Amino acid sequence: MAKSNTDVIVVEELDPTFRDEVALMPGGANIKRCFACGTCAAGCPVTNIDEEYNCRTIIRKVLYGMRREVLASQAIWLCMMCYRCYARCPQQVDFTDIMRALRHMAVRDGFAPAEMLAREDEFDKKSQTLRRELVKGAVAGKKPAAKKTKVKAGR
Ligand code: SF4
Ligand code: SF4
Repeated sequence: MAKSNTDVIVVEELDPTFRDEVALMPGGANIKRCFACGTCAAGCPVTNIDEEYNCRTIIRKVLYGMRREVLASQAIWLCMMCYRCYARCPQQVDFTDIMRALRHMAVRDGFAPAEMLAREDEFDKKSQTLRRELVKGAVAGKKPAAKKTKVKAGR
């Protein structure tokens, strides 16, 4: 696959303060512990349907100081906030809370419109509603038929 401009690191544009700033955000403290093992991405439900989305890559970019690249990306809005990556991470990097921090920083710094945070809540509610209906439908479809009550003749 050909590399896009977003894959290229421009040294002059790197911001070494970015990772420190993220580390100071709620949940961000362990980001510098990441040793790029990729366990987080292996269990990510978003990566499962979109191979271009990769939480390990996003963390690398934060650690490299790619502020604009990360905050202006669509990727930070794709996370489902499910905490699976955190549950699997051997270094206790809380990527879900880091993602929440990145979204707030993106809005704060003008990389995303202010209403994006509210719209994210709306999208999450809709997707959860859809999931709930699908699960309920699937469970209802597998319900065993109700037992028929036998009525003795002649009574
Ligand atoms: S699982 Fe943890 S240590 Fe491994 S790449 Fe993901 S965040 Fe980094
Ligand atoms: S919280 Fe986000 S990055 Fe982590 S596993 Fe869930 S969808 Fe993937």
